[in-house]
Amino acid sequence: MTYLLSACGGGGNNTNISAPEEEQFCYSVDKFADIEVLRYKVPGFEELSLNQKKLVYFLSQAALEGRDILFDQNNKYNLTIRKTLEGIYESYPNKDSEEFKAMETYLKRVWFSNGIHHHYATDKFRPEFTEKFFQEAIMQTNDSLLPLQAYGNDKKKLIEAITPVIFDTTLYAKRVNQAEGADLITSSANNYYENVTEKEVDAFYDAMRDTTDATPISYGLNSKLTKENGKLIEKTWKVGGMYTAAIEKILFWLEKAKDVAENDKQKAVIEKLIEFYHTGDLKTFDEYSILWVKDQDSRIDFVNGFIETYGDPLGLKASWESIVNFKNIEATRRTETISQNAQWFEDHSPVAQEFKKPQVKGVSAKVITTAILAGDCYPATPIGINLPNSNWIRQLHGSKSVTIENITDAYDKAARGNGFKEEFAWSQEEIDRMNQYGFITDNIHTDLHECLGHGSGQLLPGVSQDALRAYGATIEEARADLFGLYYEADDKLVELGLLPNKEAYKAEYYSYMMNGLMTQLMRIEPGNDIEEAHMRNRQLIARWILEKGAPEKVVELKKRDGKTFVVINDYEKMRNLVGQLLAEIQRIKSEGDFEGAKNLVETYGVKVDEALHKEVKERYAKLKLAPYKGFVNPVYEPVVNAAGEITDIKVRYDEGYIEQMLRYGKENSHLPVLN
Ligand code: ZN
Repeated sequence: MTYLLSACGGGGNNTNISAPEEEQFCYSVDKFADIEVLRYKVPGFEELSLNQKKLVYFLSQAALEGRDILFDQNNKYNLTIRKTLEGIYESYPNKDSEEFKAMETYLKRVWFSNGIHHHYATDKFRPEFTEKFFQEAIMQTNDSLLPLQAYGNDKKKLIEAITPVIFDTTLYAKRVNQAEGADLITSSANNYYENVTEKEVDAFYDAMRDTTDATPISYGLNSKLTKENGKLIEKTWKVGGMYTAAIEKILFWLEKAKDVAENDKQKAVIEKLIEFYHTGDLKTFDEYSILWVKDQDSRIDFVNGFIETYGDPLGLKASWESIVNFKNIEATRRTETISQNAQWFEDHSPVAQEFKKPQVKGVSAKVITTAILAGDCYPATPIGINLPNSNWIRQLHGSKSVTIENITDAYDKAARGNGFKEEFAWSQEEIDRMNQYGFITDNIHTDLHECLGHGSGQLLPGVSQDALRAYGATIEEARADLFGLYYEADDKLVELGLLPNKEAYKAEYYSYMMNGLMTQLMRIEPGNDIEEAHMRNRQLIARWILEKGAPEKVVELKKRDGKTFVVINDYEKMRNLVGQLLAEIQRIKSEGDFEGAKNLVETYGVKVDEALHKEVKERYAKLKLAPYKGFVNPVYEPVVNAAGEITDIKVRYDEGYIEQMLRYGKENSHLPVLN
């Protein structure tokens, strides 16, 4: 599971920062549409040993090679469209024209979202250039720059195929459709399924599942389900199967990485992953996940594969992603303290006894420095990760949980002085508290969410981990968030030296409520519902607390000068409400109570208060900040001696957004445009 930035109203172009103290590092790289692209540093890379640097480098190369897979998973025509636009981009003669500029913005958005749908809202972009421009531009572009092979080497056929995909607003309108009542599969534009209905998918995988198996396989995780000659078939993503061209490149680098592994355990992890990519056998994937969880000693770590299922409305198919990182030893002392006390936290939670884990196993937690982001972690990235996702592995073997501090640090630095808190916070008291404690309390909330929240609790015997279906992701995120919020306010954190005093948690409570009730709405288009699981969960929690605390005015929405503000009157009572909701959400999860989940999510998490939404959008627009952020990667360059041996790896931070995207498009693109 990934943990996205909870309060990322921040960011911006930092025009009012006169920060000579912040060395000449430019965090902001590019800005377009609703996006700001930032840059992150990789502190500590220089101090790694040569072997460790090589390992990071090889794994980073392996990470970049999977990029096309994600594009194709997100929609069947994404690769064709990206390559066509890149071809036009590089050769179009009049780069100052309005239409070209509009196309450039569209292309930047496609790069950012790994496809034609918004990375977060999942609805299709509306191009601001015309069909006529697009088609003429294709006709003018040199054949060699266009993906014509898949279209009979005929530009007209290419145009015919992708014009409606880009311009027809009803076609492939939404990448992940979770709207009630629709066939979730046929109404979603992802490429995980083709020619099959939701009913057929359910029947297909229900038949595979053995509900008595205590170590169930995650069926469907690494394949496309389609119908050929009236028969359902899975096209598995493996060597020799679907996506083989990209997977073989990934393997080329994993083989090199294996040879410079830090220790035998890590080597075994890499070997198992290689085996999995060869066979596509999900049992092997589970074995790999277990080995991966057990490797706790290596400094370098990585994820590379089909991991998260947010892109599938049924939560079965996993998008490809990779992240390579190394432990931030200093900051990890913090999360180690949390995980050493995991059992205490589990025992003292407000959850009913039968839903608690009698023994919390192997909750490992560390703070990491990411070295590369790729696939579904790039350019928009999580700030925390907790894996593996398989519930039984988590129960039997534990999970690894990380907070990515060089990313949160970049967000924090880029957001300084952008006017956001001043606009939305009720008074100077809240602003001061957030300025003083916000960075640490945010990080602690992420730690608690990842190391304890997701790992806590247990399902009752016989309850399937998919029982909550489309509501599962929201409930799971709410559970982890609530666990974090509940303990953020506990004296135990001060006792353990994690928070400086009993006031600090209020910074997190305030920013959480402000975000959940108001400011996250800036990301939603007028008239739309909230779709994304993390956003639903935050509104669910915030609205539920607002409503249940209303008789005692625990939290209020107050007006001042025509503007709405969150006011928290009683932090302790708010904490009690957090505890009550945590107990209820855990019950829903543990019992697999689908109706309960549906009721909570639909009542509190989905619908938007229209007037408030409009107000937030207007106030936010005045600040001229981008609601979404992502990152360019650093560039790693091996230094090679006369004998051809790598003697060092240098890291550079000077690559621009367009440059990087075009470079990846050339160096790391191996798939046919249609798969
Ligand atoms: Zn999470």
